[in-house]
Amino acid sequence: MSIKHFKDYPLSEEILRALSDLGYKNPTEVQSEVLPVALEKKDLVVRSQTGSGKTASFGIPICEMVEWEENKPQALILTPTRELAAQVKEDITNIGRFKRIKAAAVYGKSPFHRQKLELKQKTHVVVGTPGRVLDHIEKGTLTLDCLKYLVIDEADEMLNMGFIDQVESIIQELPKDRVTFTFSATLPEDVENLCYKYMKAPVDIEIEATGITTDKIDHVLIEVKDEAKFSLLKDMTTVENPDSCIIFCRTKERVDTLCEQLDERGYPVDKIHGGMIQEARFEVMDDFKRGEFRYLVATDVAARGIDVESISHVINYDIPLEKESYVHRTGRTGRAGQSGKAITFITPFEEKFLHEIEEYIGFAIAKIHSPSKEKVLEKKAEFERKLDANPSIKKDKSTELNKEIMKLYFNGGKKKKIRAVDFVGTIAKIEGVSADDIGIISIQEIHSYVDILNGKGPLVLNAMKHTTVKGKLLKVHEAKK
Ligand code: AMP
Repeated sequence: MSIKHFKDYPLSEEILRALSDLGYKNPTEVQSEVLPVALEKKDLVVRSQTGSGKTASFGIPICEMVEWEENKPQALILTPTRELAAQVKEDITNIGRFKRIKAAAVYGKSPFHRQKLELKQKTHVVVGTPGRVLDHIEKGTLTLDCLKYLVIDEADEMLNMGFIDQVESIIQELPKDRVTFTFSATLPEDVENLCYKYMKAPVDIEIEATGITTDKIDHVLIEVKDEAKFSLLKDMTTVENPDSCIIFCRTKERVDTLCEQLDERGYPVDKIHGGMIQEARFEVMDDFKRGEFRYLVATDVAARGIDVESISHVINYDIPLEKESYVHRTGRTGRAGQSGKAITFITPFEEKFLHEIEEYIGFAIAKIHSPSKEKVLEKKAEFERKLDANPSIKKDKSTELNKEIMKLYFNGGKKKKIRAVDFVGTIAKIEGVSADDIGIISIQEIHSYVDILNGKGPLVLNAMKHTTVKGKLLKVHEAKK
């Protein structure tokens, strides 16, 4: 355990304040290894699992190093999935909140023109999936001349998903004078080659596989025939009575069927898989994060990088066919120092997959028996009570942080030649308000949005009703979103 504090690193007050508000007391292991090297702007190859605080390990130095004054994107973060892109954007926004860092997420199946408009505004950090990023580069809607930092997140997954050529094409378009960080759970040859081809003497950091966290996650295995799986699942969930549980199936058809079966039996359940439209996927994840329902049935789409606090149980209804996938699935529980349980169902002909997994994680998973009838009966009443209980809605981390923030709408923007500094200059002069109370400013063609921090929103709103910006009195009200 590292005893270093964030304040021991050369980080600005704004970043330290955001970390403290996020509840990050000390750097995690990966952060204490990565931060000093990254802040010296050296290239890095990091082997580390998700759940180790990896996102902040690059998010903190990036937020620290980008220059607020520059309008064009300075950092590009590539992620394999759209969910991860959205989440990394949120993490960057949270870390960079007081420095007013603007991050944009660009990914497929979401309107191109809206992303184009967003990229036209001041944007410090762009997070995206390779296909859509390449699309923006080719259409000239993502400017690269000020790009200084590139992060390739979950590089091995990029390879698995067939994105590695697109990643290479993107790299070829970027300025050579840049810093590159690559993060990967494992380092397959193709990823390694890519690193050494395009990076400058990268510092190699390997964090022992803390994502597997043998001490924090209790791994167990149960033998079962396929036709008996559903009955076993009912018994297991009755006995375990989890607060929050992800159940993984191999295909989207199996997810659909299982979700329906559980729903019919009154489980608070929903599902996520690649066959659903993106909005629905985001909605389901948001509801699950907030605790609206307790059981999420999923394919591996949900296994990577997605950060949901306090998932107590992961059940592999179908054993994963790829060993890496076992680590990612089970890594959904036991996150950020909490404990969890990973239960895997295995049918008679799946021993081969189990051996590969065990060899990969370096230990044998304990076999347990199905719960006895008596045990299931004993736990039934408590289980049913929880099924009927209203969900206790968790507060989302960002919502907590946003509590003190009011977004103001102004009916003037670029067309009226208004710039961010004009808002800062005007608002900071209001009595009782300082520049520190101003958050992210977004100037669009005919309107603008300004975040007011520290609960000063109503004060600024009132004052701005009769205060001019650059000699113009603008209409102002609280923004709807
Ligand atoms: P990640 O590996 O980036 O998916 O992060 C896993 C979880 O750890 C996330 O919920 C982070 O918000 C949380 N986290 C990251 N850094 C810290 C820290 N220094 N202290 C406490 N929690 C952290």
